[in-house]
Amino acid sequence: MTTKRFIAGAVCPRCGAMDRLVSYDNEEGRFKECVACDFLEKQVAAVQVDELDTRVNQYEDDQAETEVTLVKIIEPPKP
Ligand SMILES: [Zn+2]
Repeated sequence: MTTKRFIAGAVCPRCGAMDRLVSYDNEEGRFKECVACDFLEKQVAAVQVDELDTRVNQYEDDQAETEVTLVKIIEPPKP
């Protein structure tokens, strides 16, 4: 049995659709698939543990920088 989960905020590298990527595991590994087009990517399970750790750490930093950037973008003077 395979459970597909949507990856929140993920953008498909092929069609650019957001929140249309699903992630699921089977005996061959973990796959990332787009439900809006035919995009399918296999992820190597062994690499994934490291990658996940790094991503969690970087995510907090990225989020802080994104907030600063967003403020700058929203701030331009009104007409
Ligand atoms: Zn797609």
